[in-house]
Amino acid sequence: MTKIAVYPGSFDPITNGHIDLIKRASKIFKKVVVAVAEDSSKESLFTLEERVELIKKATTNLKGIEVDSFKGLAIKYVKKKGSYVIIRGLRMISDFEYEFQMALTNRRLSKNVETIFLMPSEAYSYLSSKLIKETASLGADVSCFVPKFVQSALKKKLNKTKK
Ligand code: ADP
Repeated sequence: MTKIAVYPGSFDPITNGHIDLIKRASKIFKKVVVAVAEDSSKESLFTLEERVELIKKATTNLKGIEVDSFKGLAIKYVKKKGSYVIIRGLRMISDFEYEFQMALTNRRLSKNVETIFLMPSEAYSYLSSKLIKETASLGADVSCFVPKFVQSALKKKLNKTKK
């Protein structure tokens, strides 16, 4: 039995939806490693270091959380951390196809690694980092979707990229 779970993702940036999932996972596992993927195919707004820092800030009051980053296959990283559990989130049916494919691919690559899906609170079930970035870039107040310091980081970053 493992006491460690790994929650991999882009976290560009972390949202209240991710935080909701981290809290749920930490009720099940003694240690939850939130791992930012370094070579995601998506182009990111925040650097890897910035994403890690924002997650660290968002989880300082939570027990048993480690924040890290990794390169390459998630399953390899999970094993390196002494775990065999990947945490992923399911918001809506639209997430299902991609997550299903990825979970089964990972199982093919390593039959010992299990993916566990958690569902966020309904209030966050439509929330995505992409949506936050889009709406924030149009000047929307995203304070109900992300922690305050993430909102400030978004403002700074978006002003810079506009210049
Ligand atoms: P990725 O690029 O790996 O999909 P994300 O940071 O977008 O990285 O998401 C990481 C994981 O967190 C994914 O499983 C995604 O479905 C989940 N997730 C993202 N936003 C939410 C949310 N609002 N509620 C629940 N799960 C979420």
